[in-house]
Amino acid sequence: MLQKLPESCLITTKNGYRSMKYTLIINNFYDNVREQLLKLGHFLSENNLKRDDGYAIVFHKYSAENIQALDSITELMPVSHVRYVYSNQYVPEICLDYLTTQDNGSSLYLFIGDIWGNELCARLSVRLKGLCITDITSLCRKSNLFLAKKKICSGHILGSFELTGEPCLVSINKSYDEAASPSHSESVEVSYDRTALSTGYELQFTPVVKEESFTDSPCILVCGLGLSNKEHVLAVENCAGEINLPVAGSRPCVMNAWLPVDRLIGVSGTILKNNLAILLGVSGAPAFYTGVEKCKHIISINTDKDAPITKKSDLAICGDCTEIFTKFSKLVKEEYQHNE
Ligand SMILES: Cc1cc2nc3c(=O)[nH]c(=O)nc-3n(C[C@H](O)[C@H](O)[C@H](O)COP(=O)(O)OP(=O)(O)OC[C@H]3O[C@@H](n4cnc5c(N)ncnc54)[C@H](O)[C@@H]3O)c2cc1C
Repeated sequence: MLQKLPESCLITTKNGYRSMKYTLIINNFYDNVREQLLKLGHFLSENNLKRDDGYAIVFHKYSAENIQALDSITELMPVSHVRYVYSNQYVPEICLDYLTTQDNGSSLYLFIGDIWGNELCARLSVRLKGLCITDITSLCRKSNLFLAKKKICSGHILGSFELTGEPCLVSINKSYDEAASPSHSESVEVSYDRTALSTGYELQFTPVVKEESFTDSPCILVCGLGLSNKEHVLAVENCAGEINLPVAGSRPCVMNAWLPVDRLIGVSGTILKNNLAILLGVSGAPAFYTGVEKCKHIISINTDKDAPITKKSDLAICGDCTEIFTKFSKLVKEEYQHNE
């Protein structure tokens, strides 16, 4: 059976290296468990996390009769201790209840940054009152804190985050490169646990109806701070709705909650490739412009003829955007009706 791990999570070895207990959480309910283990193994060696300090908790669905299915996973295990925890179905609550009661003195919990791993990582951090960061690409220990790196602003910037507090719960970016082949020949201490077995949970799935993405439309409207307030953005949305144009916005628009966050255009949001983008009251800051520069044509409407977007547009109209767009949509509507 598994040995009880030491209370203290920092251990000083003979050569003075201060190692740290950490726990890998692995989800074996889906097909990608090999991929998860390869990624985790590579991440551990790249970030100097010692195999002997690691402990893995693997949630799985194999009953006692076909438990040997786990042997092939054990061979790939990048840490020295593994506990297989049975549950008859994958329900995050079951895993969270189990993990909350298993305090093994770890300073660090590692998950794979897929949809399941990110969810468990964030939710467990709340339960353990720890710190959470998802989708990291590297991690190191710096005196009493962790330093994590992750890509931000749609992958354009590599951000460094200092995590001061424990435990730290991190998920590894799912596109983190895995090692070419596994090489874990050392023995692994294995134990089994059936305490996560629960029949009290019912899984309910609601089918998601896929909306047509605004990025697919030939033409898109992008609102900027020049629209001044939510009422003006709503008026633009109403006109746009009548002529079937999707509406998105610059960062100030989204930050002011004039439009939903998933409508943000720019380095921190969506990069558009539509045929035509009509920009209303947008100055054309570089972080925004990155989001529209791949559009085939750009029309901008701005009261300031010297705004940076003017030179970057195929057609720049100088004037009040609400007024001009209202007239424009009226003309388009008339054209529609004429053609019907
Ligand atoms: C790390 C980082 C990431 C960022 N990521 C993004 C991002 O992804 N997307 C993004 O948009 N921004 C982003 N920003 C912010 C960006 O730098 C700009 O601040 C932002 O794009 C400005 O938005 P805007 O053009 O709507 O507003 P403003 O720059 O304030 O421009 C408003 C424009 O409206 C014009 N105007 C005013 N009244 C009218 C009117 N009645 N009619 C017509 N025109 C009018 C003004 O002349 C002005 O040019 C980021 C910034 C940082 C630091």
